[in-house]
Amino acid sequence: MKTTTFLLDDGLARRDRFGAVNPPIYHASTFTFPTLQAFLEAMAGRGEGYLYSREGNPTVRALEDKLAVLEGADACLCTASGMAAITAAILAVVQAGDHVLVVESCYGPVRRFLHEVMAGLGITATFFHPETDDITPLLRSRTRLVYLESPGSLSFHILDLARLCAQAHRHGALVITDNSWATPLYQQPHRFGSDIVVHSGTKYIAGHSDVLLGVITTTRKDLYTRLKTVATLLGATLGPAEAYLALRGLRTLPLRLARHQENGLAVARWLQSHPKVRRVLHPGLPTFPRHELATRQMQGWSGLFGVELHPPASPEQRHAFVNALRHFGIGVSWGGYESLILPLYTEDPAVAAHYARLGLSNDGYRLSVGLEDGDDLIADLEAALTHYEPDDGREGTMDDTR
Ligand SMILES: *Cc1c(COP(=O)(O)O)cnc(C)c1O
Repeated sequence: MKTTTFLLDDGLARRDRFGAVNPPIYHASTFTFPTLQAFLEAMAGRGEGYLYSREGNPTVRALEDKLAVLEGADACLCTASGMAAITAAILAVVQAGDHVLVVESCYGPVRRFLHEVMAGLGITATFFHPETDDITPLLRSRTRLVYLESPGSLSFHILDLARLCAQAHRHGALVITDNSWATPLYQQPHRFGSDIVVHSGTKYIAGHSDVLLGVITTTRKDLYTRLKTVATLLGATLGPAEAYLALRGLRTLPLRLARHQENGLAVARWLQSHPKVRRVLHPGLPTFPRHELATRQMQGWSGLFGVELHPPASPEQRHAFVNALRHFGIGVSWGGYESLILPLYTEDPAVAAHYARLGLSNDGYRLSVGLEDGDDLIADLEAALTHYEPDDGREGTMDDTR
């Protein structure tokens, strides 16, 4: 069965619910049993039923079953947010004294979690540049985990997943990969050896900016048991209403991604030829570093990418450009139906240093290209850029870093 059909197929399950087209939202914290015997078996962890929704809920299970298949995993666990998935997965596999090797281009709050929470528990984290080909020299005797994200959701660096997983495994380390950008439709990191895959399902999977969702999948039964234990004890559980919204979002994921891809490429190509644009960071452009690898590793491009403008004549130019946009909302997050712009501009020296390490300029913007008509989005950017004056002498020049 093709993915599109699989995501719409709920035929057999309908028999158990009077033929209702949509799955019920099981709004129940607890479940009751017909007999003491049935209750005792559930308490002992035997039997198929449900006991308490922190540990499992039928609506959440329906979502987990679909996502496990999509990701090519043996098991899936949904959590209350992407960060709940990531933190539970890290906590499940490391112990005091362990070392974690992390790609510098990972999601910012993951770095904060490692610095502000895990360091205090005796877990050391070091970071490697996303262009590192060989991480072997960076692995330590206590390196238990290598943490990856590709493409990075700020700098869009492409990692060679098969190579990095092999290097980690030779050393006996596990690999977690954040697959939020590509979604399981366009990339399946388990195929390249990743032991655990995590998602912010808040983004494309749910797709409508109306729900927080985390996803953990694994190809290893032993890891699943451990992940389930830790996520459940942390109380990082997804609620049934959120699971329902995500199931609804999943039905149109193939259609939405195709549109995000088309719009994203159209906007990226248009920006790339604009004289006020310094650089476009879109893995689908042939000029993007490691574009060839990205083409082999992924089956498509989502709609999130970066654009850097030539430095402005004055700081007011940034405001004039961003405030003139009508279809791009100013805000964080991405992957919803609506277009968003995230200005990266910062006056914080620590953040600026992080940008510099990733090769990002202070005049960068991240665009989450939504499902609107692509021509309207381009017209919006074109009009807003007429309000932006680059520094003297820069306007109209073609830059070879493009
Ligand atoms: C948003 C995001 C997360 C965190 O997900 P939440 O659902 O917001 O907790 C993790 N990874 C990436 C790449 C993200 O963009």
